[in-house]
Amino acid sequence: MTTLQPVRGTQSLLGEDADRLAAVVAAFDRVRRLFGFRRVEVPVIEPTDVFARSIGETTDIVSKEMYTFADRGGDSITLRPEFTAGIARAYLSEGWQQHAPLKVATHGPAFRYERPQKGRFRQFHQLDAEVIGAAEAAADVEILCFGDQLLRELGIGDGVTLELNTLGDPQTREAWRAALIEHFSAHRADLSEDSVARLDRNPLRILDSKDPGDRAIAGSAPPIDDYLTPEAADFFAEVTAGLDAAGVEWTRSPRLVRGLDYYRHTAFEFVTDRLGAQGTVIAGGRYDGLIETLGGPSTPAVGWAAGIERLAMMIDTPAADAPDVVLVPLGERAEAEAQRILSVLRRAGIAADMSYRGNVKKRLSRASASGAARALIIGDDELAKGEAQLKILDSGEQRSIPLHGLAEALKA
Ligand code: ATP
Ligand code: MG
Repeated sequence: MTTLQPVRGTQSLLGEDADRLAAVVAAFDRVRRLFGFRRVEVPVIEPTDVFARSIGETTDIVSKEMYTFADRGGDSITLRPEFTAGIARAYLSEGWQQHAPLKVATHGPAFRYERPQKGRFRQFHQLDAEVIGAAEAAADVEILCFGDQLLRELGIGDGVTLELNTLGDPQTREAWRAALIEHFSAHRADLSEDSVARLDRNPLRILDSKDPGDRAIAGSAPPIDDYLTPEAADFFAEVTAGLDAAGVEWTRSPRLVRGLDYYRHTAFEFVTDRLGAQGTVIAGGRYDGLIETLGGPSTPAVGWAAGIERLAMMIDTPAADAPDVVLVPLGERAEAEAQRILSVLRRAGIAADMSYRGNVKKRLSRASASGAARALIIGDDELAKGEAQLKILDSGEQRSIPLHGLAEALKA
């Protein structure tokens, strides 16, 4: 029988690789508390419409990346490609509106049918933070500070740049859109096929194209600043003033747009050059129009999502989980006694393990390999005296220790 292989673009991780993802999530959770974002859980599966309506039909995600299937009842279901739309759906269907402005955060797997490569998977994991029901620039500043502090907490703040743009209000966006259509129409013959298809329906998306030819044409596109209404310019100025006050560094990126249609005003990416082509580690913006597209009332909101795998590739190697002590029983009585000691130690909050295979030498070398600092060698003879040998594994130093009060002695 042939061995079964994993689904392309998925990962099964052991040891350091898994520890890295966990370290990113742990840092996120610490910063989340500092910023007062409440933890939420939303489903992995949603009705397809939740994403199709909000993210936009012309986006890469909806047009070609979603895992969509009919369930056994015939309903069209999609594995979440991102969190924002599902959180917005829950905001409406679960009565979360009463908590507005609501600061929430979550993390977990997301799914996109993409070509797998470094930093790009079909099942990947995101951190997500949202402020829903706040139109104030203070909310944009807070969400950006959260991202900045997460990167500091992960020890990678120095290698990452915050690229910031505004997409303006609807009036700004309309005027800019018209100017972009004019610009790109003049270069129609040189645009990629995808971009030509987007030209009339969603020219902003061409600015986000990864095609090298498109990028050159996008580079000479008119910047949004020429079309900003005074209100939109004021809002952006408030956001940047807030960032300056908070000591968060940023650079202006006048052609930055996001790959999703729902953004207004603030749009941003935290970008690094350390991950090759997949350099965006956190991305987000203000999405005042999204909740309306899901049938809700007009609701201002701002948020971001971060790729856990990409952040995990950048952090220092996290300390591996090693036991404090490994028990090495040498005899039948000792082995039974070791079970008792093991549970006493674990209940006392001491990470303890038992090495039960092979001769003493093997057992001790397994104990060392586990990363433990100490081994407790339990022989039948010493057991009769209520004692065992405590061995410091890196020095080899060894002494007798009474089994009575062992947990306290090991903690001291
Ligand atoms: P990209 O331009 O790299 O395709 P995106 O614009 O599609 O990114 P978003 O929808 O903004 O990405 O998702 C937020 C973050 O999630 C990204 O910045 C990235 O860190 C991560 N991410 C997105 N897609 C993937 C993927 N297929 N594999 C791993 N991480 C991903
Ligand atoms: Mg993408």
